[in-house]
Amino acid sequence: MVLPRTCVVCGRDLTLEERHICLECACDLPFTRFWEREHNPMADKYNERISAHIPDAVEEAYAFAAALLYYSEDSPYKRIPQALKYERKISQGRYFAALLGEKLLLSSWAPTVDLVVPVPVHWKRRLKRGYNQAEIIASEVARKLGVPLCAECLRRTRFSVSQTSVSLEKKASNVEGAFVSVKIPPARHILLVDDTFTSGSTLAACHKALRDAYPTPGVRISVATMSYVGP
Ligand SMILES: [Zn+2]
Repeated sequence: MVLPRTCVVCGRDLTLEERHICLECACDLPFTRFWEREHNPMADKYNERISAHIPDAVEEAYAFAAALLYYSEDSPYKRIPQALKYERKISQGRYFAALLGEKLLLSSWAPTVDLVVPVPVHWKRRLKRGYNQAEIIASEVARKLGVPLCAECLRRTRFSVSQTSVSLEKKASNVEGAFVSVKIPPARHILLVDDTFTSGSTLAACHKALRDAYPTPGVRISVATMSYVGP
């Protein structure tokens, strides 16, 4: 069976040399380049959220943060995370996740990461969708970084409605305490991975659950996502 091969961004037919994205769209990928700077808008936002979220955050090691692409509702590039999340475009998702892994390797901090943990989905949602998009991204990132993936380290205990339409405050309270850490292999620098970074509330709730399992201040928790919403 031959499936039509089209560009995920513009929809035009791909040539034999192209994979998932046409050359023109690939040339204009809206890279955040956050991996080039330890202090960037995503890291600032995330560390701020962590200090609000974890009361004794004085002890918290600085969380490094990077995303591959900017996400905007008016940009056709939003198709990249959407196709993975809603349309089972798994091999395409792996392709862009590998690109994220390659960009992370250019950062000053990713080489110290020794464990990759995806943000979990509730088992009911996983059953319905058949996969966890964050886990697909995390597994490619772990492969690129050459470190283990721990998809069972965190568990989502609460089933919440799809968060796309709820307000940021509501979203934060939805995810607060929705995660627990289960299996915990030894690690010094954990990379939490999700598909999209919006307010950082989901990642922060996971961060908190991981911190319960790794109370040592020397253990750093950083974050990486496929896309970043915001300027
Ligand atoms: Zn294209």
